[in-house]
Amino acid sequence: MTFDIIVIGKGLIGCAAAKYLSRKSIKVAIIGTDEPENNEKATIFSSHYDSGRVFRQLGKNSAMTSINHQAHKEYPLLERESEIDFHSKNGCLYVNPYGNDDYLDKIEKRSKLHDVKINQYKSGKEIKRDFPFLSFPEKSNGMFESAPSGHINPRLLIKAQLKVVEKNDGIVINGLVTEVIYKSDYILVKTDNGRTFKCQKVIFATGAFTNCFGLLKEKLDLTLKSETVILAQIHNEDIEHYKSIPSLLYEVNNPEIEGIYSTQPIKYPDGNYYLKIGANLPQDIYFKNGVEEIKEWFVNGNSDANIQVIENYLRSIFLDLKFNKAVSKRCILTRTNSESGNPYISTIKKGRSYIAVGNAWSGGNSDGIGYIVAMLAIDEKFPEGFYEKDFNLIYANDNYK
Ligand SMILES: Cc1cc2nc3c(=O)[nH]c(=O)nc-3n(C[C@H](O)[C@H](O)[C@H](O)COP(=O)(O)OP(=O)(O)OC[C@H]3O[C@@H](n4cnc5c(N)ncnc54)[C@H](O)[C@@H]3O)c2cc1C
Repeated sequence: MTFDIIVIGKGLIGCAAAKYLSRKSIKVAIIGTDEPENNEKATIFSSHYDSGRVFRQLGKNSAMTSINHQAHKEYPLLERESEIDFHSKNGCLYVNPYGNDDYLDKIEKRSKLHDVKINQYKSGKEIKRDFPFLSFPEKSNGMFESAPSGHINPRLLIKAQLKVVEKNDGIVINGLVTEVIYKSDYILVKTDNGRTFKCQKVIFATGAFTNCFGLLKEKLDLTLKSETVILAQIHNEDIEHYKSIPSLLYEVNNPEIEGIYSTQPIKYPDGNYYLKIGANLPQDIYFKNGVEEIKEWFVNGNSDANIQVIENYLRSIFLDLKFNKAVSKRCILTRTNSESGNPYISTIKKGRSYIAVGNAWSGGNSDGIGYIVAMLAIDEKFPEGFYEKDFNLIYANDNYK
């Protein structure tokens, strides 16, 4: 059988794209690897092996806000269609401990433009009035967006997207794609387990591994970075008490830590509830040497060495939080290197191949990115409300290996 479109990469963006294609009665297959049970046996990994991703409505620019909007418009429908709840609407609090910043400066105008209700704060004391369990320096400024902001559960979101794909007769295939061969009137997609699939068009949604297997003729300019998060296990009897904690984006920026984010206590696959908190750290590794270097981080990386610094901030923000021990998790983060830092969404070969690669904030709004690339592949143009110039690809120069 020849598929109309094959999506490569069963991550957050690829699964969303496959769902939108499947709704259009297109013969679609999605090929990717599942979350590994044992990292030592895996070749590739992903950015979504977790149970919480902050979701906010007002992005850093209009294009991001429109993507966020597209995603949250879709979520109630997808939850109904899949019968899987993945979206928690506990709101999102943004705080800058040093005062006003560019994002906060524009927030009132942007919130009116996009019809998003917000509360603004001009001091740590004002924030504390609404969030008594949180503590920030007195100089802090901040902003709170209520529902539908909050968080999504990435594992459940993927499950929901794929359930709809299969309901619409899309095919979900397990495999690592190692080769994409363009013939004159079709495309061959080959996997590491010796299978070959035929299609008319292909969408790359390969995240951090986009440059790794020579699938693209030219490599993209991407920054790949290790990321440590810690999970603080909340006592069962306290879970109810912490239910009103919003998602948090805390713009601290000092030599030991930068850009903290956290989600309220969420139930993880082991049945326990964890408050997750992560940040950029000076000891993060910038990957330049392909899959083996990334695997070394996932298998042997010393993320435990980062627990203390993150835990110190956790304790300073959530003053009275009671938790059992905190454990670390190793992840990989992808950043695009365009001036806007927006995701890359583009045609590679007109009528044949397309790509969508997210940035550090493409979990919560992955559905919107998947929507754009799916429509681009079908219609050969960006859907209404989205503009090519906002998502242009930047190709790597020669110093990327
Ligand atoms: C620790 C951490 C915290 C984050 N927190 C947030 C947050 O709070 N809010 C937010 O919005 N975003 C957050 N993000 C970012 C978000 O997770 C990513 O932007 C999102 O996962 C990107 O989706 P993706 O589909 O591009 O990549 P992924 O979800 O990584 O999916 C790509 C998939 O493609 C597969 N793949 C790659 N190459 C091949 C191949 N050749 N063959 C087959 N399959 C292939 C990969 O294995 C993977 O499964 C966070 C990321 C990290 C690491």
